[in-house]
Amino acid sequence: MSKRQRTLTEPFKIKMVEPLKITTEEYRIKRLAEAHNNPFLLRSNDVFIDLLTDSGTSAMSEHQWSAMMQGDESYAGATSWERLEKEVKDLTGMPYIMPTHQGRAAERILYGILGGKDKIFISNTHFDTTRANIEFTGAQAFDCLPEDAKDPEKELPFKGNLDLAETEKLIIKYGKENIGAVILTVTNNSAGGQPVSMQNAKDTRALCDKYGILFVLDACRIAENSYFIKHRESNFENKNYREIAQEMLMLGDAIIMSAKKDALVNMGGFLTLKDKKLAEQCTNLLIISEGFATYGGLSGRDMEAIAVGLREVFDGDYLNYRIKSTEYLGKHLNAIGVPTVKPFGGHAIYVDAKAFYSHIPQEQFPGQALVCDLYIKGGIRCCEIGSVMFGKHDENNHLIPAAFELVRLAIPRRVYTQSHIDYVIDIFEELTEEKEKSSGIKITYEPPFLRHFTAHFERL
Ligand SMILES: *Cc1c(COP(=O)(O)O)cnc(C)c1O
Repeated sequence: MSKRQRTLTEPFKIKMVEPLKITTEEYRIKRLAEAHNNPFLLRSNDVFIDLLTDSGTSAMSEHQWSAMMQGDESYAGATSWERLEKEVKDLTGMPYIMPTHQGRAAERILYGILGGKDKIFISNTHFDTTRANIEFTGAQAFDCLPEDAKDPEKELPFKGNLDLAETEKLIIKYGKENIGAVILTVTNNSAGGQPVSMQNAKDTRALCDKYGILFVLDACRIAENSYFIKHRESNFENKNYREIAQEMLMLGDAIIMSAKKDALVNMGGFLTLKDKKLAEQCTNLLIISEGFATYGGLSGRDMEAIAVGLREVFDGDYLNYRIKSTEYLGKHLNAIGVPTVKPFGGHAIYVDAKAFYSHIPQEQFPGQALVCDLYIKGGIRCCEIGSVMFGKHDENNHLIPAAFELVRLAIPRRVYTQSHIDYVIDIFEELTEEKEKSSGIKITYEPPFLRHFTAHFERL
């Protein structure tokens, strides 16, 4: 008997297949040139393994697809809504539930009411749509991550936590009456998909109580976060994942969730509230911009699929496979010498491109170079999270680089098998052998906002 570990197998089998086109390197060089070296501008049909995002890219189960057949498309009081409302109430313990077409719609509604000029929001890390919706109202958004958590090498169990001491300082500095909300994003997407501990959520609740501040949970990846709590925080080993999620969600005054993540669907979201008056205000905005209160921006069949997905995601076999398969990619990349952020997050592996392509200076965007090389070599699509996304210019038009040059490999839920992931590792191995051949990148066109989506690049 060999000593190798048992293969990590997917806890599902395949009933319907989506064919993938196998292309040549020559073909991909042409397509990437047409896309101005920006994989966001590629056609998905020309991509072999798409690791651009885990958002809305999940494969639904047979139970979700069959529930969709029972979608009640009535304008008001649909049974599909009743099912979703019951499921969300049971999970969150909150009395007021509002469906929305996706997470950012829930953000626009809630922060549209809580925000405004002179308001301050504090979060472990604001996700980009969260920050944009807050700043759009004229309010300011502050990220409060502990110093330790900013070190990409440091192995801490809950690197997504909110820094409570810094949060309290900000509350005192700006005055509690000016704080729109404290927002805990679980897991902390923009900080590497790192988890938040139950203790941190409880302490956040206590801090909000002390100053009478509203506490919002961004629960996009609440199931993945529960996995980490069960396996890393003491006194949770005997609770199941759903119970852990319930315990955390009950702590909030409001919850925002994009169903495109841990509800295992392709579109949807919701907002939940404890306070009746705030719920009435939000419902008015919901009806003006999303749809009637019993469907938001969703069709009946969407709501059916979310209701089923919200339960499936807490299945122990699924979550074990989910987190372990992300870890599998990270471990094997490290084993062949590819540096990554550690510990591995729940939904993605972040490659340290500055260390991997140490011969490419930050002004020449090593992350974007790696993103392009992964596509050309293997048809793999992923995105840069570094100076292309966050870099700024000084008054002499020199780049002020981002803190990190990362490349994110986001893993869609239940979509790729282990052999697909092994293939990704193979491509990295080939790139490792010819690192020196890779060259830097310059920007030839950039829009004024969110340039990573539409910028054009040229190889140096
Ligand atoms: C995706 C995401 C959102 C926004 O949700 P959409 O459905 O994409 O609008 C908000 N917060 C976090 C943490 C997210 O990951």
